[in-house]
Amino acid sequence: MNCDQCGAPIKEGENYNLHGKALCEDCYIYLTNPPKACDPTAVATAVSLRKQLGQSGISGLTELQKQIYQTITEREKISREELLKAIKIKPEELEQQFAILRHCELIRAFKEGDRTYFTKW
Ligand SMILES: [Zn+2]
Repeated sequence: MNCDQCGAPIKEGENYNLHGKALCEDCYIYLTNPPKACDPTAVATAVSLRKQLGQSGISGLTELQKQIYQTITEREKISREELLKAIKIKPEELEQQFAILRHCELIRAFKEGDRTYFTKW
């Protein structure tokens, strides 16, 4: 049989059913967990892991997260554009890291005029 979504062949017994459609594993995972700009699962995992390990402040952060946090705290406030330039990462990557840092209550964003700024929590 073939996947109703992408047409890939599925081995007998390896199809997933969703809303009456027979799906391959990839399509099933994609449709039940669509990728989001802010990944709540990744955030929840990061936060609960830090709590379990008794981490606070910047301990337990990745190098990239520390870099973001330190750049923000050094300048007190920094615009999104300046931060992207300073750290040299893609906007999507910053969104992801920001979501984690925000949930850990380390940094927050605010608007001033039409610019977005980051500052310490
Ligand atoms: Zn498929």
